[in-house]
Amino acid sequence: MAGKSTPMMEQYHALKQEAEGCLLFYRMGDFFELFFEDAKIASGILDIALTARGKDQDNPVPMCGVPVHAAEGYLAKLIKAGCRVAIAEQVETPEEAKIRAKKEGTPVSKTLVKRDIVRFVTAGTLTEEALLEPRRANVLAAICEVRGAIGIASCDISTGQMILQRCEPLDVNASLAQIGASEVVAPEGFNRAIDDVIERPRGDFGSDDGERQLKAIHEVKTLDAFGDFTREMLAAAGGLITYLDHVGRGNLPLLLPPQLRASDAQMAMDEATRASLEILTSQQGGRAGSLIAAVDRCVTGAGARQLADDLAAPLCDLIAISERLALVQYLHQDPLLRADLREVLRALPDIGRALGRVVAGRGSPRDLGQIRDGLAEARRIRDFLSQKSDHPTLLERLLPAMGGHGALVDLMQRALVASPPTERQNGGFIAEGYDAALDELRQVSGNARRAIAALEARYREDTGIASLKIKHNGVLGYFIEVPPKHADALMVPDSGFTHRQTMASAVRFNSLSLHEEAGRIAEAGGHALTAEEAHFEDLTDQVIAARQAIAATASALARLDVSAGQAERAAEGDWCKPDICKDSCLDIAAGRHPVVEAALAASDDRFVANDCALSEEDRLWLIGGPNMGGKSTFLRQNALIILLAQAGGFVPASSATIGLVDRLFSRVGASDNLARGRSTFMVEMVETAAILSQATERSFVILDEVGRGTSTYDGLALAWAVVEAVHETNRCRCLFATHYHELARLADSCDALSLHHVRAREWKGDLVLLHELAEGPADRSYGLAVARLAGIPKPVVSRAKSVLDKLEKGRAETGGLAAGLGDLPLFAAVAEPEEESADTKLRQQFEQLDLDALSPRDALELLYELKRTAESTEI
Ligand code: ADP
Repeated sequence: MAGKSTPMMEQYHALKQEAEGCLLFYRMGDFFELFFEDAKIASGILDIALTARGKDQDNPVPMCGVPVHAAEGYLAKLIKAGCRVAIAEQVETPEEAKIRAKKEGTPVSKTLVKRDIVRFVTAGTLTEEALLEPRRANVLAAICEVRGAIGIASCDISTGQMILQRCEPLDVNASLAQIGASEVVAPEGFNRAIDDVIERPRGDFGSDDGERQLKAIHEVKTLDAFGDFTREMLAAAGGLITYLDHVGRGNLPLLLPPQLRASDAQMAMDEATRASLEILTSQQGGRAGSLIAAVDRCVTGAGARQLADDLAAPLCDLIAISERLALVQYLHQDPLLRADLREVLRALPDIGRALGRVVAGRGSPRDLGQIRDGLAEARRIRDFLSQKSDHPTLLERLLPAMGGHGALVDLMQRALVASPPTERQNGGFIAEGYDAALDELRQVSGNARRAIAALEARYREDTGIASLKIKHNGVLGYFIEVPPKHADALMVPDSGFTHRQTMASAVRFNSLSLHEEAGRIAEAGGHALTAEEAHFEDLTDQVIAARQAIAATASALARLDVSAGQAERAAEGDWCKPDICKDSCLDIAAGRHPVVEAALAASDDRFVANDCALSEEDRLWLIGGPNMGGKSTFLRQNALIILLAQAGGFVPASSATIGLVDRLFSRVGASDNLARGRSTFMVEMVETAAILSQATERSFVILDEVGRGTSTYDGLALAWAVVEAVHETNRCRCLFATHYHELARLADSCDALSLHHVRAREWKGDLVLLHELAEGPADRSYGLAVARLAGIPKPVVSRAKSVLDKLEKGRAETGGLAAGLGDLPLFAAVAEPEEESADTKLRQQFEQLDLDALSPRDALELLYELKRTAESTEI
């Protein structure tokens, strides 16, 4: 191997070159082997031993291997770690190689079994059940630019859904964030800053080619029926399909007709907004703690994937939103119907993904069985729902998509056994009674098996050896076995038995009759396998022919599951149906944050519901109050309520009227992101700049402590200017949380701005956060009280207190931080004076006591006095 010129080495290097940057899994017997750098990378990721191969001691070839039967698990790990893998299989048997060598006249000893890359495994092109997460879509995207416009084609090949869209170059990252692709391909030299793109030849991204490929796949003369696609969309589609063809080595996966996603049909959200609202993943990176985790009550994987898609792309179309809401309401008001429906859905196989595997040529009999069962159930659900009256429009549309597979289901019910196996090479999946010839073959082998059982009994009797057995293994086939002590009797020349093998514990024989029966079994078995294989192909073809209708059924079921799940969630948490309108308002009564509420409920704490009422005349709320007071929570809960509503679901509030939002922005002041190790203030400013340039009068913006990432003066100045700009120029609805009291002055100059705060109290020296929103400016920041709450040692807090006193004295004398901002007085500090509590007085009295100098009588006097003090100053 190490020697450069060995045939194997040459073959390896040729394949490695073809693998183009992928790790090469090189099949050798029962293992996939990796060599050189690949071996080092894989052994590190997989935590398996790195060994060496080759005779050249000074220059061994690093190598590691994974067993073929366990390859899926290892592949999953490598893909997760960001690798792509090329699978090189042996494409001929050693016997075939020998025959070929003889034909070619090359020495047999030097002839290598032919190997070929049969497939590339990449993050965006998986179909295997074991490699996919059931509740997450797995999306591949292709992106390219045509004359200044960006086209994006994306598809989930596990279900075949394909979407084409276009966007402005500035919005590339936002669009990709919405798609959430696990792999992105682009033409070589594509110069937009996107992480981890896979570059493909420019020639792959031709719009004419794209159009031609789409037409060919869907067997249509024109794409008009699917949508009005632009050049850049078709070019991206071309890139996507060519890449799929490349990784599948000519085997295209399931692709459904492309859907056009118009950029203004969805609520726009950029990457920073998605991350800060923790829609599909939390800041920690997992699903736990995210919005979807708190909302998802789907009972099928397909439903959960649809819900994720809904939440990633909330709608802007009033009618479409109302239709979804009406279906949720329909299921919400009928708990019995909902429970029945969810129970049936729960048992449903994932037909979308089974179909994906079948079309990709990786289907198993089990996949066919799943499609059969899923389609049959879909029909039952349709019949069951059809009996009800007053269907909402969306349901009316979904019902027809759930039927229409009668003939196919009937065929598969007759053809397949009840639970077909995942492996197809051993047969056994075609049902009895489906094919008379197959049944006959099975009968022949059944008869022969019975004949063998009879032979065993007869031989025992004839030889008198009770321990004689007829057995079967993969090497010898059928044989007769006796313990060594009885072997001699069978060794006699005319015994009718021929010796085959002697082992320590047994001696094995053959006989003519056994040979004949075994031959019958083998022959019939072989024919039966061929017949089953042919039926499999036939059924597969029929499924492929019906792929679009099957996919439509799968997606109707998924939508039903999403709606039922939303209704269930609403019932569970007492959520309400939002009213969506076209006004510029946001009127939420008793709104709650679904994630924080769930977290609090887990520790038996209660969430304090808060109202929000924005209108044209009062569209910007400035929210102050102590840290930990609930400002961020309030901001986010309103953004999430809008998002949930426009995704077509109920919302955590007692009532909600929401003016349609075209763009949603969420920004968090820099220090919250410190842990993520970016140049935080810069990021904060870049993101804020995006809002100022993109937010429209129809947008909704939450800004959380913007400006705190820099010095106090800079921060205040920036926050001030940002609020003014949002108020004057963008004129969007906005919630702005800040700890700069000075900003309150803006209320005088900005007429659509109002002041609010989260309430807090100091009680007996402790800070009590009420998490309740109230009108008016915050009184003070309670910073020291929060510090005490957080466990800062007492001496440090008292030291801070004296520093603060000095600072505040200075501020009173100079006019404070915002002194130069006008003649306006500082906003009214409505601080609730900290009453001298009973505790404080009592403590003082105790501290002054000299216990040793106290007579018993004095002590009694003192007790009376202390009691009086306590009573007189009680709060
Ligand atoms: P701030 O932004 O003012 O610093 P947060 O919104 O981060 O405060 O809230 C701090 C914590 O207070 C949250 O993690 C949550 O546990 C609790 N909290 C926030 N809002 C509420 C509420 N409305 N009801 C109950 N607890 C709340």
